[in-house]
Amino acid sequence: MVEAVERLCRALDVEFLRGESLAAQVSLRIGGEPLFVARPSSWQSASALLEGLWKSGAPFKVLGGGTNLLIEEGALGFGVLQLRRCGGTVRFDGEAVEADADVPMPALCAQAIRQGLSGLEGMAGIPGLVGGAVVMNAGAYGAEMSSLITHVAVIEQGSGFKWREASSFSFGYRSSNVSSHGVVAGCRMLLKRDERSAIEARFEESKAKRLSSQPWNVPSAGSVFKNPPGDFAGRILEQLGFRGKRRGGAGFSEIHANFLVNHGDATFADAWGLCEEARAAAAKAGVVLDYEMEVWRRAL
Ligand SMILES: Cc1cc2nc3c(=O)[nH]c(=O)nc-3n(C[C@H](O)[C@H](O)[C@H](O)COP(=O)(O)OP(=O)(O)OC[C@H]3O[C@@H](n4cnc5c(N)ncnc54)[C@H](O)[C@@H]3O)c2cc1C
Repeated sequence: MVEAVERLCRALDVEFLRGESLAAQVSLRIGGEPLFVARPSSWQSASALLEGLWKSGAPFKVLGGGTNLLIEEGALGFGVLQLRRCGGTVRFDGEAVEADADVPMPALCAQAIRQGLSGLEGMAGIPGLVGGAVVMNAGAYGAEMSSLITHVAVIEQGSGFKWREASSFSFGYRSSNVSSHGVVAGCRMLLKRDERSAIEARFEESKAKRLSSQPWNVPSAGSVFKNPPGDFAGRILEQLGFRGKRRGGAGFSEIHANFLVNHGDATFADAWGLCEEARAAAAKAGVVLDYEMEVWRRAL
C-alpha cells in the first residue's frame, strides 16, 4: 500500500518520504514516524494525490503547521499529507481577502494590517497555517476565524476542488466540521477598512498581552484544554496546583497554566500522563475539561 502511494507521488511529482519523524514538524517537538509523509507543491497535485489516497484506502492525516498537536512516538501506522507549500498566496480585493490554506497565519495577519484591513490584528500571534486555523476555528481576544470567513475552498472526495459558503459548515468554540467535508485549500474573508495606525495599535496591544501571558520561547502545543463555559481552564489548573507542574520533560507552563511545554526531552508518555492527571483532578473537583489540543495516537 505504501509502495502504491510512493508510485502515485512520483507520478504527480509530489515529495515522498519514509522513516521521517514528525517531532521536527510540530511545535511541541514530540512525535513518531508515519507510514509516509507526502508534500505536494501545488493544489493541483494535492487534489490529485488526495483522490488517489481516498481511492486506495490508505490511512492518512493532514498536517498543517503542527501547532495544535500531541503525537505519540513510534510507528504511527498512518501516513501524513503535509500541506505547507502548495501555493502560499494571499489575494486582496477591496475588503475581501482570499488566502491559500498553507499561508502562515502571522503572514496573513501582517499583510492584512499593511493593507489597512481590520479583523485579524488580535489573531496575529496565533501560529500555524490558515487551513489549520479554519478547521480549529482559531481565535484570540474576542475574535475568531468563523466571524470573518465567507467561503472555504475544500478538496472533496469524488468531486475535487470546490468553494463552499461558510454557512454550509458548523463552527463552534475551537472546533468545526470542515475537515469532515474534505481538505481545506483556502478561505475567503471579509475584513473592514480602518486607519492603519489604529489597526497597528490594536495589534501591538494584543501582541504585548500575548507575550506577557504565554510562553513563547519554548516548544509548546498552545492551550491543552478548552475553557469550560464561564470559566478559564488556566484558572482551574492553577487552582489545582498544575501551574509549572512537570512530569519528566513535559510540564504545564509557569507563565500560563493551560499551556503544555516541552522542557527539552519530553516524551509522549510524560505529556499525555500529565494532561490526563490534570483532567482527572479537574473531574474530581466537578469540572469537565475537554481537549483543545489534538492527540494523534498510534493506529493499532
Ligand atoms: C504558542 C501557541 C499559541 C497558540 N495560541 C492560540 C490562540 O491564541 N488561539 C487559538 O485558537 N489557537 C492557538 N494555538 C493553537 C494553534 O496554533 C491553532 O489551533 C492553529 O490554528 C492550528 O493550526 P495548524 O496549521 O498548526 O494546524 P495543525 O496543528 O497542523 O492541525 C490541527 C488540525 O487541523 C487539521 N488540519 C490542518 N490543516 C488542514 C487542512 N488544510 N485541511 C484539513 N484539515 C487540516 C489537522 O488534521 C488537525 O486535525 C496556539 C499554539 C501555540 C503553539
